Amino acid sequence: MKPTGSSAEKIIMEEEILPAVFKAEVATWAQRIGVEYKEIHLRPMKNKWGSCSSKGRLTFNSELLLKPAAFRAEIIVHELLHLKIPNHGRVFESLRKSYLAKYR
Ligand SMILES: [Zn+2]
Repeated sequence: MKPTGSSAEKIIMEEEILPAVFKAEVATWAQRIGVEYKEIHLRPMKNKWGSCSSKGRLTFNSELLLKPAAFRAEIIVHELLHLKIPNHGRVFESLRKSYLAKYR
């Protein structure tokens, strides 16, 4: 049996999550990490998966809606942690790893 184009398309569709689901994931991670943000935006981004302003405005690449949950978690935790730690130093790295390991 040959897989048809339409069934391949269906698999992609089933993996895609809704923006509301993604935003709920961000809210859950924010609670776990203990940070508050002001806004979440989802839009296509060229060179990155997410960004975070010092004022608590989070922007995520809308392509994340097509990515596996573990990948989304990596990006979400990274950006939310920047609300606590603005750099990528040792503290940032160890907190990032421990949060991802704890809720895997
Ligand atoms: Zn960063």
